[in-house]
Amino acid sequence: MLSNFSPEEIESNRKDLFSRTIWEDPTSQLAHRVKGNDLSRYFLLTDSEKKGIEETIRLNVSVTPYYLSLSDPFDPHCPIRRMIVPDSRESVFSAEESPDPLEEERLSPVRGLTHMYPGKVLLFSNHSCSVYCRHCMRGRKVSSPNERMAKEDLELAFDYIRSHQEIEDVVISGGDPLNLADSRIDWILGELSSIPHVKICRLGTRNPVTLPFRVTEELCKIIESHNNDSLSIFCNTQFNHPKECTQEAKAAVLRLLKAGVSVGNQSVLLKGINDDPEIMLSLHKKLLEMRVRAYYLYDPELIPGSRGFRTPLNKGLEIVEYMRGKIAGMGIPSFVNDLPGGGGKITLSPNWYLGYYPKTRQHAFRSALTGKVHYSFEPVDSEEESKYPILEESIWEKLNENNTSRL
Ligand SMILES: *Cc1c(COP(=O)(O)O)cnc(C)c1O
Ligand code: SF4
Repeated sequence: MLSNFSPEEIESNRKDLFSRTIWEDPTSQLAHRVKGNDLSRYFLLTDSEKKGIEETIRLNVSVTPYYLSLSDPFDPHCPIRRMIVPDSRESVFSAEESPDPLEEERLSPVRGLTHMYPGKVLLFSNHSCSVYCRHCMRGRKVSSPNERMAKEDLELAFDYIRSHQEIEDVVISGGDPLNLADSRIDWILGELSSIPHVKICRLGTRNPVTLPFRVTEELCKIIESHNNDSLSIFCNTQFNHPKECTQEAKAAVLRLLKAGVSVGNQSVLLKGINDDPEIMLSLHKKLLEMRVRAYYLYDPELIPGSRGFRTPLNKGLEIVEYMRGKIAGMGIPSFVNDLPGGGGKITLSPNWYLGYYPKTRQHAFRSALTGKVHYSFEPVDSEEESKYPILEESIWEKLNENNTSRL
């Protein structure tokens, strides 16, 4: 049962929690995580949130005091809060949703490993994370102790990788690999670097966002010791909102960079949280200031209880279109859709190309900068002319007349 607290009590509960936690000690942060029913101590909950907490069909609730401190106790629209606190929409399982839309399990030859693309695999290293994100697409496994990966499970996964010469790239995700003990991370990276055909390892972790103190000097030394001629280690993290770009987060990123680990960001497009071109632009500007490059912007998956987060497909396109020209290209993510049914990832881009006019051998483009139509010529000796979408004469004339891309 959820207890009720007054706003004053909530303020003082927060103060108590923050002072009980040894702030920069990741162990203390993890030990003081807020779970399930205790959310009512730290948020003035709406009825919808109360229902969400009691009836969610998704993963557990757990949040570090650090990440909680970024949230608003009284505003249910606070973006950080929405990533922490379930609401009633999380208890609805619609017909179009599936616990495993990407068919990661069908494509799993051994426990914890998904082999979807020839040259790369996804390794589920563990089931736990510092914070459980309400939008997590792997909620069917994450946070569930039944999904714990024993050392023997990982050994079988490494045997599989060892016996498949074509695997060059291992993406370690979970759960969150940085929620494993240093010694386990050391062992995993050591195993991977002992496999000659594995050249790249990527750590998918949200700890720089949710518990930056976990990225300790000691951990970075371990990572650095395996980041060598035979293995290149990358980190992909997930900042979703400018409020997450704190000094603490930046310090964690800088420690990773010092260990030679390039840090990229994969944000998830989330309704009411970051589905706004200005918010996304500001997020990616802050990320560049933290020396994090943009990688992906994910369209959220059709997982159970995801209706509160999903946006129309066009939103993502609108956002990357808006960003073009307003920020360094390395700050613009690729908008990605991971196709249901194990179709893998594809990128969607705004359509800047209007078509080809064979009479004058001209391509017409829409400019992100001027908003006008700009032209370029196909080489005279081109043999590829049949490959372009042809502009009809009437449309071509209209484009020339108005010199605007709005047809
Ligand atoms: C996303 C993903 C990868 C990595 O894909 P990239 O596009 O290279 O980042 C690898 N395997 C699986 C199963 C994935 O879902
Ligand atoms: S950190 Fe990643 S794996 Fe863990 S709950 Fe969040 S999105 Fe899911």
